Amino acid sequence: MKILYLLLTLLIVIFNASASDSESSDLIPKAASSYTQESNQAIKSYLPFLDKTDFENAKKGFIGTIDSGVIYQENKAVSYNMQEFDFLNQDSPDTANPSLWRQGQLNRIHGLFKVQDDIYQVRSFDLSNMTLIKGKTGWIVIDPLITPDTAKASMQLVEKHLGKFPVSAVIISHSHMDHFGGIRGIVDETDVISGKVPIIAPKEFYQSAISENIMAGNAMARRASYMFGNLLPKNETGMIGSGLGQTTSVGLPGILKNTDTISSFEGETRIVDGVKIEFIYTPESEAPAEMMFYFPEMKAFCQAENINRTFHNLYTLRGAKVRNGQKWAQYIDLAIQKWGSDVQTSFGSHHWPTWGNDNIVEFWQNQRDLYRFVHDQTVRLANQGLTPKEIAEQLKLPETLDKQFYNRGYYGSVSHNIKAQYQLYYGWFDGNPANLNPLPPTEVGHKYVELAGGVEALLQKAKESFDKGEYRWVAELLNHLVFAQPDNKTAKYLLADTYEQMGYASESGPWRNFYLTGARELRHGVKVLPAPNGLTPDMIDGLSTDLLFNYIAMKFKGTDVDAAKMQYNFNISLPDANEKIALIINNGVVNPRFNYEIKNDVTATITVNRKDLNRMSLGQVKFAELLSTQAMKIDGSQQDFIAFFSKVDNFEFWFNIVEP
Ligand SMILES: [Zn+2]
Repeated sequence: MKILYLLLTLLIVIFNASASDSESSDLIPKAASSYTQESNQAIKSYLPFLDKTDFENAKKGFIGTIDSGVIYQENKAVSYNMQEFDFLNQDSPDTANPSLWRQGQLNRIHGLFKVQDDIYQVRSFDLSNMTLIKGKTGWIVIDPLITPDTAKASMQLVEKHLGKFPVSAVIISHSHMDHFGGIRGIVDETDVISGKVPIIAPKEFYQSAISENIMAGNAMARRASYMFGNLLPKNETGMIGSGLGQTTSVGLPGILKNTDTISSFEGETRIVDGVKIEFIYTPESEAPAEMMFYFPEMKAFCQAENINRTFHNLYTLRGAKVRNGQKWAQYIDLAIQKWGSDVQTSFGSHHWPTWGNDNIVEFWQNQRDLYRFVHDQTVRLANQGLTPKEIAEQLKLPETLDKQFYNRGYYGSVSHNIKAQYQLYYGWFDGNPANLNPLPPTEVGHKYVELAGGVEALLQKAKESFDKGEYRWVAELLNHLVFAQPDNKTAKYLLADTYEQMGYASESGPWRNFYLTGARELRHGVKVLPAPNGLTPDMIDGLSTDLLFNYIAMKFKGTDVDAAKMQYNFNISLPDANEKIALIINNGVVNPRFNYEIKNDVTATITVNRKDLNRMSLGQVKFAELLSTQAMKIDGSQQDFIAFFSKVDNFEFWFNIVEP
């Protein structure tokens, strides 16, 4: 889980899902077609649905939960609502892949659970789990959720049932926000600074957490609104869960710097509040900075997010750098080597635990082999000359791996993870010159419409294929027409109906959400809601000056005629941070130099405190106000600096995705 799509949920962006009576039938969700029903039925007979072990384990050790099922923010707005998914109580409907439906049923089981003596978990109070280990003087908390509200509610539940103990340490398993954002809800920053409460995290945790989504953030967050189904109603024709957990909490995530760092691949040991913990550092796996760890005295293992009850993402559909399945498998194998013969309990930062040595080792091995198989076989077939779409179509997991519920692609998918491993080695180009410089979507759309014999002929073909259940082909045909004629409602509604059937049949939560959100925006258009602010005070504070100015450089409108002519040299001094930055502007490019001062041809020297730049980034103060209050001083050409600053872009959040 990454940062910006979580921030998306800072604002509740769900709009009214129910169609009013006046709406035509084109605008409302349709029933599952016979082809979709058949496809969903096939999954039912393929997977061992009669095995209820997962349900027993997800409920095992239940102590209690919040009766109301709702967690509130301080301002009384809802942070997390566990009741929204009550509809999953029923058997899976025709409009859902039964395997994804089952995963949602499991993921919605919420409350405080005893994992074993001295180990407890609060589950489904957020997307992720919070785990508590009983130390000598208090709780060692692992992964304090996304927002302070859900973290605090979890601690209150623990206190109610297990008594009041202080937090003696925090362990953050990796750099994704669903594993640290709620930290301010359970510890006081002064206790961290004074050394009373250590925070243990993997090397590069803080930098990775802050920087991972800054550069690409706006488009990533918009795509995340598709991936997580934030715009969909939660019901049987809408969002039914993300596969990893149900959904994300709403509130203001924070971050604190860790005080202790794990950096050894071989392993390193700590005694934390009297409890022995053995760590291994596992970077560039599920997260850039991650670690797994073992409690030898309790024979218990924390999987972090490297071992899960789903096939995780080697590529995440909101858009991010791809991950390496080989490294991922190697880390799991290292855990097997080190602790496989000893472990009795294995728990993760998502989903429910596994008990018993045999069960655990089999689970770890099958997860390891899943990542290894997809990595190795993809690259093998690529070396045979196959291209991504071909490999994704032909490569199937061995049944021994494929029939394990925990290996199913509820979050990732075999298909898109295969393409990710191809991309890891070969990038976007498949080597076929036809794909080197194809026409862009609108232009190729017009050509296909022409080739089909016009709009009506193309629509006719699309309808025939739709009636045969050839949804992938219909999507391709109609996508061409919608990009050629974005006002053609017949095309848009039929494409929406097509995406919808594809969503109903998807086993991956993100796939379902992408298809159904696409359908929704084709039917209703893009609703421009308040755009989420991707930057929180803690994130801005943590942003290095280096990254901040590289970010500004990226936002410079270098294609603008006037901007392209600018030739400026600015020296910027940040007295409170004791930093100097030079900006060299030429050719539509901003080159920042850090700890550097230009000596000759200086256009202007700007003096401003970093804290005021932070306030400006948070929208708390305007550029003009900084100038008029002298919080920003400009020696030299003020006009040129203002001209430069006027060419720094602002991003629109609600850009089109399913139409031009
Ligand atoms: Zn996570």
